[in-house]
Amino acid sequence: MVHGDDRLVARMGGDEFVILLQNSRNIGQAVDVANMVLNALEEPFRVGGHELSVGASIGIVERPVPGQTAAELMRDADVTLYWAKAEGKGQWALFDPERNATEVAQFHLSATMPAALEREEFYVDYQPLIGLRDHNVVGVEALVRWQHPELGRLGPDKFIGLAEETGLIVSLGRWVLRQACLQARRWQDRFGSAAPFVSVNLAVRQSRDPALVNDVAAILAETGLEPSRLQLELTESAIMGTADEPLDALRALSQMGVRIAIDDFGTGYSNLAYLRHLPVHELKIAGSFMEGLRDAERADPVDARIVSTLVDLAHALGLTVTAEGVETLAQSRRMADIGCETGQGYLFAKPGSPADITRFIADSLD
Ligand code: C2E
Ligand code: MG
Ligand code: MG
Repeated sequence: MVHGDDRLVARMGGDEFVILLQNSRNIGQAVDVANMVLNALEEPFRVGGHELSVGASIGIVERPVPGQTAAELMRDADVTLYWAKAEGKGQWALFDPERNATEVAQFHLSATMPAALEREEFYVDYQPLIGLRDHNVVGVEALVRWQHPELGRLGPDKFIGLAEETGLIVSLGRWVLRQACLQARRWQDRFGSAAPFVSVNLAVRQSRDPALVNDVAAILAETGLEPSRLQLELTESAIMGTADEPLDALRALSQMGVRIAIDDFGTGYSNLAYLRHLPVHELKIAGSFMEGLRDAERADPVDARIVSTLVDLAHALGLTVTAEGVETLAQSRRMADIGCETGQGYLFAKPGSPADITRFIADSLD
């Protein structure tokens, strides 16, 4: 332990050190000390004829002493240290209570997700894909939600990313797939040849899961859903530039009769020439392209050209096209004129419960 003025340096163990600045006047003072330490470590050290390079990452916490325990202070300093490390070598970071609160909440969500899956706190809503010519319900997309006991209803944007990080997405995704196929089977029984296919989102991790093909085959067999009534949606990044195994899996699924769609097309970098070698049946054009087509009178000519080029390209490759995020009649008409087969969006229907969607399909058949 080294004392100096109002500074105390201590080694906590291993390669961890703490500098306590007492009576610090402002955060700038702590930053100065951090920079001083980082500068001091820039030169290599000579030990027994060897030159050793060392570096450090520093987490800075500044706060009044009253109401603080040493344990809390050390925990927050440790968290901040990891932020600094994540920024690269030789960096310091400042503690940010908001960022910390968000991370704690996300950690809590991640940690409770497996139990939530067991307790069936997740459920699936469905959103129709509508034929732009006849306005029939061609398909329905399965969209997962979490009915959280304390936080209420959470959308996928709140938890799918976390589930991808922890790997839970594989079992959650399998659960969604099974629910969706069970539901689609009910529609198949009720509506016969007019029943929609169900379109299920596949996360990148799922698409690389060696058990994917077997899981899908088992769920189709168990639920008795015709393979042609299942579509799997993958993002461009999941499909493009991957190793051979995931592509083999997609080919096997496609051979089973399952449809493969590329979701949010146009937002990633697709190798268009490569597209023709992929087992893909449908492109879903990202909702962002609909912005410029919102009003018939003020249509953005560039957006209109891009969208019609995408549709032509898809057709040249023998693919069908769904326009996502269709909110206005002008967008729906324009997409129909361009030759796009189906549309999905609030104009037709918001995502809803199986009961809502069953009624919607029945009404569309009247
Ligand atoms: P996505 O697959 O592109 O799904 C479409 C999203 O657009 C849905 O959001 C839907 O509610 C929303 N949407 C539909 N119509 C409109 C419209 O007219 N205007 C606008 N602004 N939005 C519209 P949601 O349900 O919040 O899902 C967000 C994303 O979460 C999905 O985007 C999908 O990538 C992911 N996701 C949802 N369910 C699953 C799942 O079971 N597994 C995986 N891996 N991802 C899922
Ligand atoms: Mg989707
Ligand atoms: Mg989409």
